Parts: sequence; structure tokens; C-alpha cells
Amino acid sequence: AIRLSGIHKSFGAHHVLRGIDLQARNGEVISIIGGSGSGKSTLLRCVPLLEQPDSGQIAVGDDSISLGEPGQRLTGRDRQAMRRLRSQLGFVFQNFNLWPHMTALQNVMELPLHVQKRPRAECREEAEALLERVGLTARRDAWPSQLSGGQQQRVAIARALAVRPRALLFDEPTSALDPELVGEVLTVIRALAEEGRTMVLVTHEMGFARHVSHRAIYLHDGRIEEEGPPEQVFDNPLSERCRRFVSHHL
Ligand code: ATP
Ligand code: MG
Repeated sequence: AIRLSGIHKSFGAHHVLRGIDLQARNGEVISIIGGSGSGKSTLLRCVPLLEQPDSGQIAVGDDSISLGEPGQRLTGRDRQAMRRLRSQLGFVFQNFNLWPHMTALQNVMELPLHVQKRPRAECREEAEALLERVGLTARRDAWPSQLSGGQQQRVAIARALAVRPRALLFDEPTSALDPELVGEVLTVIRALAEEGRTMVLVTHEMGFARHVSHRAIYLHDGRIEEEGPPEQVFDNPLSERCRRFVSHHL
């Protein structure tokens, strides 16, 4: 499970996250929606501490970190917790971010092999199975530049799964894709949701989010303005602003 409480984050004078409390139980799929600049990416990046919150608590499984003031230096114990917490998460970003000098297969094997230091044969076998899962067995020796955006993003998903994460974080995984390539990526994400993975998904694909998520959150100005089951948030929100946002994006 993932648990965030009281998360604040400013960039200079700009108070971007204004006290976020968010929990994802095991097996839960949460989608986060909201306008540009509302803080969705910053929030997602705070979970693995790619962005250090100014204050608040972050817990993934049994590992937790508490922050009390902006720019607080992490203690040795915090750093250890951060490493463990990161190793339990898989991320998929908007722009794929595959390593360009590695083939699809090498991209998927890299973290289990060189960071988790698992045996090569095991990493390779698992990477091949993951590429098969995302429908890319035939392209496993291709370089990222030889793959379509949709294929690259499917490799990125296989790579995120290769660390055997406890939870997956997606930040607009389809927004950089040509429209005809969106479906193949959503199909893979839907299958992961259906097998009971814990996921937090930032997306503009409202129909998709309504279908796969157990809970949805509408972020506005760094605060959770609406939160509830998808039928509420997408079809009948309490917040007028959320209602306008959703109807504008459907
Ligand atoms: P979008 O839908 O466009 O991706 P978002 O909801 O993901 O938007 P964020 O990327 O979290 O929004 O940004 C929230 C605010 O924080 C924006 O005003 C952005 O300019 C600002 N911001 C984000 N990262 C930084 C940074 N590293 N330095 C300064 N300001 C930042
Ligand atoms: Mg963003």
C-alpha cells in the first residue's frame, strides 16, 4: 500500500501541493485528474522522492519517511528507507525515457540485473516473458529509436514490471502518443489493473480512467477537490469545478 499524508511542496514562492492525503490500498487503482499545473506530476514524483516534499509523510509498505521542513536533509536512515521505498515502485512517464543505447530486452533487464543484482539467466528469462506480455517478443533486439511510440511505451511498462514492484505509478502514459497508438498501451494497463496491481495513474483519458479505477481524485491548485468512486467523480461530482473539468474532457 501507498500512504501519503499532509504533503506540501513549494517551488520558490509557488505553493504547488497544499496538504495532500492519499492512500492506495493493495490492489487498488487510483486515477488522478486535474488541469494543467494543478500538481499531478509533482504529487506522483513525491511518492518515490524524485521530488522532496517540504513536509508530510510518505509510506510504501513498511518503509516510511517523515519530512518537517523545506530542504530538510535526509538522515542516513531516511536514505535507506528512500532506497527501499523506490525499489518497490515501478514508474512509467509520459516520454518513455528508455535508455537509447540499449535494446528493448536490455532496457527491461537493466534494473533487475545491475541494481537488484539478480542472476542474469533469471533476469533474461523474466524480461523475455514481460516483453511477450506486452506483445513485443519479435522486437526485443530493436533499439528504442526503431520502435513506435506505442511500442516504446510498452517496453517502458515491461521495464517497470521487471523490478517486481509492489505498486505502479503512471504519469500520462499515453499523452505523447499519436491517437492510433493510444489503444495498445491502454490495453496493457487495463490488463495490469485487472490482475489486481496497485496503481496510481495520472491521465487525461477520462473514459479509460472511469473504467479501470476504483477511486478517482480531482486535483485543483494543489488540493484534492473531489475524491470518490469513479461513478461519482466522473458522472456526478459534488464540486462544480470538477464537473466542468470532466464534462470538458469527456
Ligand atoms: P500537466 O497536466 O501540465 O502535466 P501537472 O498537474 O502535472 O500539469 P505539475 O507538473 O505538477 O502539474 O506542476 C505544478 C506546478 O508546479 C506548475 O505551475 C509548474 O510550473 C510547477 N513546477 C513543477 N515542477 C517545477 C520545478 N521543478 N521547478 C519550478 N516549478 C515547478
Ligand atoms: Mg504533469
